[in-house]
Amino acid sequence: AAESDAGSLPRREMPSRGSVVMKARGLSRRFGGLVANKEIDLDLRAGEVLAVIGPNGAGKSTLFNLLSCCDVPTSGDIEFLGQPVRGWDARRIAAAGLARTFQHVKLLPKMSVLENVALGAHLRGHQGLLASVMRLDRREEARLLAEARRQLERVGLGAHLAAEAGSLSLGQQRLIEIARALCCDPCVLLLDEPAAGLRHGEKQALGALLQKLREEGMTVLLVEHDMDFVMNLVDRVAVVVFGDKIVEGLPAEVQSDPRVLEAYLGVAL
Ligand code: ADP
Ligand code: MG
Repeated sequence: AAESDAGSLPRREMPSRGSVVMKARGLSRRFGGLVANKEIDLDLRAGEVLAVIGPNGAGKSTLFNLLSCCDVPTSGDIEFLGQPVRGWDARRIAAAGLARTFQHVKLLPKMSVLENVALGAHLRGHQGLLASVMRLDRREEARLLAEARRQLERVGLGAHLAAEAGSLSLGQQRLIEIARALCCDPCVLLLDEPAAGLRHGEKQALGALLQKLREEGMTVLLVEHDMDFVMNLVDRVAVVVFGDKIVEGLPAEVQSDPRVLEAYLGVAL
C-alpha cells in the first residue's frame, strides 16, 4: 500500500523522433601507441536502434565508454542533446538522460533483484547518491522501490523481485541491469554486448524487450559482435574494425558489404 500511493518520479520529455540525440565527430582514443578509436563520426537519432558491431578488440567498448563519459577522448567532440559533453562525467550525462549497461554484469549478487534496481533509482530525484542513501525518508524509499518494481515489470522480471540477484540466469541478470538503467529515466540507452553468452530463448526475450522500448520512444545504441542477433533487430548498423568505422547503413546493406565480410571472415574478397 505504501508503494501504491508513493507517487511516481518525474518523467523526462523524449526528444522528437528522428532528431539527432548524440553526435560524435572525429572521435579518437589512444592507449599509448595503440589507436583504439580513430576519428569516428557517429550520429544517433531519437527512436532508432543503432548497432555498433565489429570483431573482438575492434574498439567498440572504447567508443561506448567515450559516448557515456566513462572515458575521455584523446581528440574529437561529442554532443548529447545539443550540448557538448567535454568535461562531463558518467553521472552528469546519466542525469541528462543517457543510461548504460556494462559488458560484464555488475550486480550485488546477495541483494534482492528489487534492491539492486532500487540502487539505480537513487540517481534520480536526488542531488547526490551518497546523500540519498544516508538520508532516505520512508516516503522517498517507497517511491524508489515503486520505481524499481515498475522497471522490473517493464523488462519482464516482475515475478522475481525478491530473489537474490545472483540466483538468476545470465539472461535475467542482463535484464536486471537494463531495468536499473531504466530507473534513471533515460531517453537514450547504451547496451554493451547485451546478448553475449545468452541462450537462444534469452536472446529472443532480449530482442523483444528492445523492440518494445523502441516502440515506447526509447533510443538505443548497442554494441554486439553477434551479427545474427543484430541484423533482425536494429534500424542501422555501424561497423568498427581496428578502431575505424568502415561502414554504416541498413542491416541488409552492411551484411552484404565486402569490407564487412572481409573483416569478419578475415579474407579479402
Ligand atoms: P571491443 O570492445 O571491440 O572488443 P575494446 O574497445 O575493448 O574492443 O578494445 C580495443 C582495443 O583497445 C584493444 O586492443 C584493447 O586491448 C585496447 N584497450 C581497451 N581499453 C584499454 C585500456 N584501458 N588500456 C589499454 N588498452 C586498452
Ligand atoms: Mg567490448
